[in-house]
Amino acid sequence: MATMESLIGLVNRIQRACTVLGDYGGGDNAFSSLWEALPTVAVVGGQSSGKSSVLESIVGRDFLPRGSGIVTRRPLVLQLHKTDDGTQEYAEFLHIPRRKFSDFALVRKEIQDETDRMTGKTKMISPVPIHLSIYSPNVVNLTLVDLPGLTKVAVEGQPESIVEDIENMVRTYVEKPNCVILAISPANQDIATSDAIKLAREVDPSGERTFGVLTKLDLMDKGTNALDVIEGRSYRLQHPWVGIVNRSQADINKNVDMIVARRKEREYFATSPEYGHLASKMGSEYLAKLLSKHLESVIRARIPSITSLINKSIEELESEMDHLGRPIATDAGAQLYTILELCRAFDRIFKEHLEGGRPGGDRIYGVFDNQLPAALRKLPFDRHLSLQNVKKVVSEADGYQPHLIAPEQGYRRLIEGSLNYFRGPAEASVDAVHFVLKELVRKSIAETQELKRFPTLQAEIAAAGGEALERFRVESKKTVVRLVDMESSYLTVDFFRRLPQEVEKAGNPPGPAGTPIDRYTEGHFRRIGSNVSSYVGMVSETLKNTIPKAVVYCQVREAKQSLLNHFYIQIGKREAKQLAQLLDEDPALMERRQQCAKRLELYKSARDEIDSVSWAR
Ligand code: GDP
Ligand code: MG
Repeated sequence: MATMESLIGLVNRIQRACTVLGDYGGGDNAFSSLWEALPTVAVVGGQSSGKSSVLESIVGRDFLPRGSGIVTRRPLVLQLHKTDDGTQEYAEFLHIPRRKFSDFALVRKEIQDETDRMTGKTKMISPVPIHLSIYSPNVVNLTLVDLPGLTKVAVEGQPESIVEDIENMVRTYVEKPNCVILAISPANQDIATSDAIKLAREVDPSGERTFGVLTKLDLMDKGTNALDVIEGRSYRLQHPWVGIVNRSQADINKNVDMIVARRKEREYFATSPEYGHLASKMGSEYLAKLLSKHLESVIRARIPSITSLINKSIEELESEMDHLGRPIATDAGAQLYTILELCRAFDRIFKEHLEGGRPGGDRIYGVFDNQLPAALRKLPFDRHLSLQNVKKVVSEADGYQPHLIAPEQGYRRLIEGSLNYFRGPAEASVDAVHFVLKELVRKSIAETQELKRFPTLQAEIAAAGGEALERFRVESKKTVVRLVDMESSYLTVDFFRRLPQEVEKAGNPPGPAGTPIDRYTEGHFRRIGSNVSSYVGMVSETLKNTIPKAVVYCQVREAKQSLLNHFYIQIGKREAKQLAQLLDEDPALMERRQQCAKRLELYKSARDEIDSVSWAR
C-alpha cells in the first residue's frame, strides 16, 4: 500500500514538473494536459470570505499577502509537506529553486513580487500559477490552490472584464472532474447568496467533490447560529460541512500567532453551546486532515487512469517525434556529424540507383547499348565516301603531282575526315549519361527520408552534386574526344597491309598492272572509298566499346566514389552558424518538436514517479 505521503508527494512532484513545462491546464489544446488529470484542491469563494485565512490556518503560518480588494491575482499552488517533529519550518518557491525561506514575512513579499512580475503593478490577473512549498512538522500533506476571489464589480483601474475573467479562471480549475472544491462561505451572510456555493453547484451539482466551509461563525448576530448550514439542511453536500473560526482583523493587527489562533479556535468549538456536539468535526485542523485523507483516496483512485493517460501520451508523442525527426544537436561538431550522416544516407541511395538496387542505372546501359550504336550507324559516311568526294579529296591531296601507286595522302585525308565524325556521338554519350546521373541525384534526394526536413541541405546537396557531375562531364568529354583523336593520330597499318594489293586487283587488261591509266578509273576510286569505309567501320567497332569504358570511368565511377567529396571539404571549413543554416528547418516544425520533446520528458518523469511510488508499496 502506498503511504499517504508518497501519494500526495507524487502528485506534488508531477504538478511542479507540469508548471516547469508550462502545463497548468486551460492553456492551448495542442497537448492533452497532465495537469488537468491530477487531483487538486481549489479554494473558491467571494472576496473577503476568508479564503486566505483558511489557507493560513491550515498551514498554521501567516504568509499570504493581505489587503483590501483583489490581492490574489495569480493562482497560488500551495504544496504542504509534513516534516518530522522538531524540524525547522521553511518555504520554497519553484521559481527560486534552492532558496529556503524561514521568514514567512519574506514569503508573503515574494508572492506579491512574483505576482507583479507577471501582471505588472496593475490589478490584472494571470492564470500562470505560483508554486509554493511549505515544509513543516505542523502541516499535513496536502496541495491547495488559492484563487482570486470572485467579485461582482470591477474597481478603479480594472478592466470591465475582470469579473468575468476571474470567474473564468476559477472555473477552469473547478470544472475539471479531478478538482476538489473547497467552497468558502462566510457565516454572517445568507448562504443563498454565497458565490462559492453558486459556482460549486454549477460545476458539481451532485456535491460529491465539494467541501463546504463556513467561516466567521464568531461574527454571526447574537441569537443566530449556522446549524442549518453545518448540518446540511440548507444546502446538501456529500461531504460534511466544516465550520471555521479564523483570526479577526483585530487579531491580525495584533499579530496574534497562528498557533495561538488554532488553540483559540479549538476552544471556541469545545465551549460553544451551539456547536459543542460537533467540536471534533470542526475547525481548521480537522479540515486539513479531512482534505488530506480525501485527496489521498482521490489520487489512489485516479492513478490507473493517470498511468494510462501517460502511457498513451508517451506513445503518441514518440510516434509524432519519429515523424518529425529527432532534434538537431546545437554544437557545431554534432551538426557537422549530422550533415555528414545525412549526406551519406543520400549517397547510399544514389549508389543503389547506380548499382541496380533501385531503378535508373539501367538507363546508362541504354545509352551504350542503343543510343551510341544508333548514332554511329547514322554518321554520313556514305556521303563522305561517295565516289565524287573520294575523287575530289584524293585529287586535292595529290596536288600537281598525281599519286603513283597508292594515294597515301588521299587515304589519310579521307580517314581523318571520317574519324572526325565520331566526336559527335562520343560527346553525345557523355551528355546523355550526364543527364541520367543528374536525374538520379535529384531522385535520390527526394527518396532520402532523413533529408525531407532540411530543404536548405537538400538544395545544397543538389547543387554540389550538379557541380561535381559537371566536372566529371568536362573530364569525360576530353577523354572521349581524345579517344577519337588517337584514332586519327596513328592508323592501324596492318589493316592496309592486309588489303589486296592494288596491283593484283587491277588484274588483267587493258594495260599492264599499275599503269597510270588504270589508276584513275572509277573502280580505282571506288576501291579507295570502300577501303576507307571498312577501316572506318573497324574504328567504329572499337569506339563503340571504348567510349562506354571512358564514360563509365570518368563519370559513373567518379559519381559513385566521390560525388560529394568537394562538398565534404567545403562544409568541413564552414563556421558553426553556416552549418546551422544547412540544418535549417521549417520553424513551425522545430517549435512543435521542441514542445513534443518537453512534453515527452514530462510524461516520462511522471511515469518514473508513479513507478517509484508503486514499488514503494
Ligand atoms: P479572502 O479575501 O477570502 O482571502 O479573505 P481573508 O482571509 O483575507 O479575510 C478577510 C477578512 O475577514 C480579514 O480581515 C479576516 O481577518 C477576516 N476573517 C476571515 N475569517 C474570519 C473569521 O472566521 N472570523 C473573524 N472574526 N474574522 C475573519
Ligand atoms: Mg485572499
